[in-house]
This record gives sequence, C-alpha cells and structure tokens, in this order.
Amino acid sequence: MEECIFCKIIKEEIPSKTIYEDERVKVFLDINPNTNGDLLIIPKKHTENLFTIDNNTLNYILEIIKDKIYPILIKKLNATGLTISQNNGTGQEVKHFHIHITPRYEEDHLQFTSDKSILKNIDEIYNILTK
Ligand code: AMP
Ligand code: ZN
Repeated sequence: MEECIFCKIIKEEIPSKTIYEDERVKVFLDINPNTNGDLLIIPKKHTENLFTIDNNTLNYILEIIKDKIYPILIKKLNATGLTISQNNGTGQEVKHFHIHITPRYEEDHLQFTSDKSILKNIDEIYNILTK
C-alpha cells in the first residue's frame, strides 16, 4: 500500500499531530475537525475496513478509545460526551481502517444528515430485512 496516506503518517513521511501512539495504534488530530479534539485512531498494520481488520486489533482499538483517549478528552478538553463513527465503502474517503473519535460538548450542534426524500417506507424496509 505505497500510496496510502495513513501508512505514510505512520512512517512519518507525512506529519501528524499525534496524541497517543504505541506499537499497534496511532491516534492523531483529524485535519478537518467537527469538534475540538476530533481524532482518528488507526492500526499501524494496514487494513482497509471493518470487514478486513482482525477482531483482536479491533478490540484493542476500542479499549484504547475507552481506557486511554476518552479520559484525556474529559480531563483536558472538558468533553461531556463522545461520538465514535467509522465508514466502510461508500462514505469512506481513506481506505485504511480508522475510527473517528469525536468529543462532544453541549451546544456543539454536531449533526448527521442525509437526503430523507429518497427513503422508502419503514414497513417496506422491515419486510425486506425480515423475509
Ligand atoms: P473517512 O471519510 O471516514 O474516510 O474519513 C477520513 C478522515 O481523514 C477525514 O475526516 C479527513 O479529514 C481525515 N484526514 C485526511 N487526511 C488527513 C491527514 N493528513 N491528517 C489528518 N487527518 C486526515
Ligand atoms: Zn495504509
């Protein structure tokens, strides 16, 4: 994966504002933050997405978010909540697995939007999913 931008960040060929790092993962500031302290956590071993990452690494990443990163966000930035999000395929800009760690604050007005005019009826979706 020569051209992978996050592999380049791991190799320090591209600079990053890293706030936590160990032998398995790196956590750095997203260059286009939605809230103060919006972070990305990535595995050091390249893998594309949720369906290719090994479960052991995935669990480790969740533990780091829970036990190491969120406490820092509370203590140093006074975060009052946390939204984690993760894109695969459509919606995924960088094809190196990453979880967005987005600290939340009262009045941040963070929103997830979509075109609701193209939605099918919810009963139709339920039927499709269950038959
Ligand atoms: P996604 O759309 O889930 O693939 O998110 C990719 C994220 O990577 C976006 O939020 C970008 O702002 C972020 N990003 C892209 N390049 C860099 C970079 N060089 N340093 C930090 N964040 C980056
Ligand atoms: Zn990569």
